[in-house]
Amino acid sequence: MTREYPNLRKKIIVACQEMVEEGLIVGTWGNISIRIPEQPKAFLITPSGLDYFLTKTEDLVLVDLKGNILSGHRKPSSEVHMHRLIYKNRDDIKAIVHSHSPHASVLCAAQRAIPPLLEDLVQIVGGGVDVTPYVAGRRHLQLGEAACKALGPKKFALLLANHGPVACGRSLPEAMTVARVVEKAAKVYIGTQLVGGAVEIPKEDVKEEREHFLHKYGQRD
Ligand SMILES: [Zn+2]
Repeated sequence: MTREYPNLRKKIIVACQEMVEEGLIVGTWGNISIRIPEQPKAFLITPSGLDYFLTKTEDLVLVDLKGNILSGHRKPSSEVHMHRLIYKNRDDIKAIVHSHSPHASVLCAAQRAIPPLLEDLVQIVGGGVDVTPYVAGRRHLQLGEAACKALGPKKFALLLANHGPVACGRSLPEAMTVARVVEKAAKVYIGTQLVGGAVEIPKEDVKEEREHFLHKYGQRD
């Protein structure tokens, strides 16, 4: 059995355990994948229905963008088609974190998008977070297509109606941050309903904030 990319496998398992510990998922719902840097038409994804504290590196499944299993003895997450369609549509996305976090789930259940209401959100996601129309989870391909449409050509997060949020990143740590920032923004958005509603950041500032984050944020010169 192949055990390629041991470090990527370990990172995925650690991130899954963090999601459980932080309350971003309950049980084995939710899933994580990473595109392989040396093999960009393939990605590693968590297996279906395994306890993340018992998951071993060999339980992860290597899949290509057509959905073929390249290696692994487990069944991949049932949402593998959503992951592969996102990677197929967006070369810039290198990792996907799908949680079922509670406040984002409130908005998924209400089929309400998160408006561009906080600077950290618009910086890391590229704007507000759109929501798909409802697609039953068992309709894997339609779910993936709806996810790609809600994500659009530039954003890094979306909400699956009546299901949960999907966070993307240029790396796994970034996708994890997106998942946390989206959960926080959902909580804040719900809170704003008590104080007269959220006031959106103007469009031109959303664009500027995003540009600044992409090109000048942090320790870069
Ligand atoms: Zn799910």
